[in-house]
Amino acid sequence: MTQVEPGVSGADVRPTGAVAGSVDLAAAGAVLADRGVRIVLGTAVDMSGVTRAKGVPIDRLEAFVDNGMGASPSWNVFCVDFGIAFTPDLGVTGDLRLRIDPTRLTVVDAGVAWAPASITQQDGGVFTGCARTRLAHVVDRARVAGLRPLTGAELEFVLVQPDGSARSRGAWQGYGVRTALDVAPFLTDVQARFADAGLPLEQVHAEYGADQFEVSIAPADPLLTADRTVLARILVGRAAARHGLGVSFSPQPFPGGAGNGAHLHLSLADAAGPVFSGGTGPHRMTPKGAAAVAGIVAGLPDLQGVLAGSVLSPLRLKPGNWAGAFACWGLENREAAVRFIGATAGNPHGANVELKAIDGSANPYLAGAALVGLALDGIDRDLPLPPEVPVDPVTLPEADRERLALAGSQTEALDALDASSLARHILGDAIVDGTLAVRRYEHATYGDADPEAAAAAYRLVFSC
Ligand code: GLU
Ligand code: MG
Repeated sequence: MTQVEPGVSGADVRPTGAVAGSVDLAAAGAVLADRGVRIVLGTAVDMSGVTRAKGVPIDRLEAFVDNGMGASPSWNVFCVDFGIAFTPDLGVTGDLRLRIDPTRLTVVDAGVAWAPASITQQDGGVFTGCARTRLAHVVDRARVAGLRPLTGAELEFVLVQPDGSARSRGAWQGYGVRTALDVAPFLTDVQARFADAGLPLEQVHAEYGADQFEVSIAPADPLLTADRTVLARILVGRAAARHGLGVSFSPQPFPGGAGNGAHLHLSLADAAGPVFSGGTGPHRMTPKGAAAVAGIVAGLPDLQGVLAGSVLSPLRLKPGNWAGAFACWGLENREAAVRFIGATAGNPHGANVELKAIDGSANPYLAGAALVGLALDGIDRDLPLPPEVPVDPVTLPEADRERLALAGSQTEALDALDASSLARHILGDAIVDGTLAVRRYEHATYGDADPEAAAAAYRLVFSC
């Protein structure tokens, strides 16, 4: 149970790891008000991957939890620009509610607290289009099956000017120490904000691409990780703004440059312990671990439209980018969509799989639901583990390369999603159809555009 005591330091009002719990809202409000909080923002990530928010004054905190704030059903099909991709079910009539999860309340900026919201029916009933609710549902299914999933997130981003234009054209060394030290005030600010928010920062480094950085966050319950991904984007964005910078999480901020991945690591345990280690299968996988890997590899083409479904995603998801452009798995294989990481002293969190094919346009709740859902599907159907690909897949014979390659175009990825009963089973029709609507709008609007113009239009849309 998460209880926020009146009078305790505001640092106690932070994500706690509790997924369910009760909060004394009057006391929490008083603590936040003491810390100078005036506005509470509740966020929901829509199907195009954009994080939207509504706010209330701090004295209406309880209403944001109990009654929720109004949101049109069309909130779910807002597009990356000002478009709205109406569907027969998601239009201008009706009303939904954003209800915040008070166990996650966190101060994110001067005078502003944040909490993630679930989208519900007016009366509090389940809205099947809510990505956060769907992830909670998939994690519950895992629990019922006797499995405990944990996910850890990597967030890659490119520092830009506040208007989205390129920050520098100077010399850049991938993973360079100078390139990290040059923005040390920003990086130390990120660390301080994460620490204040109770967000466990695992690693921070200058990435391969110009002005590109990565922060990774520790493994946790998948719902907590998805909430923390939103919080991390907010905190990185606030730190950047303080240093006169903008942040791009776009899959491909600048055509020809490095793409931004949003890799997710998954570990799974049952009553006997971790399923990706301690067994007698390949790299010591247990039968359940092997079936989970098989499920992820087999279902990836169906879910690509959710994991990397934007019009820019195919620019990143190409061989040679370490983005996982092939639906295969391999031990520490950074060109396989599923990189298997064994249990060694170098991996204190234990054996896990990293799904690399996810990019910054993916809704983090849906990405988590897809990854856990695919692993469960593999276990449910006891799928056989396909042969390991221990080499860079581009070196395989052409027929193998063609068989394993993920879709090279947005249309192909979306058509596979549309036709997938597996995707509809994991995510539900409302989410699959809403995702198709916003991504097909993107295709109609930007599919034939010059990549530079499309990249410019997208550069800041996934930032918080
Ligand atoms: N930037 C790469 C991507 O788009 C990932 C590089 C890495 O493995 O860190 O997925
Ligand atoms: Mg990286």
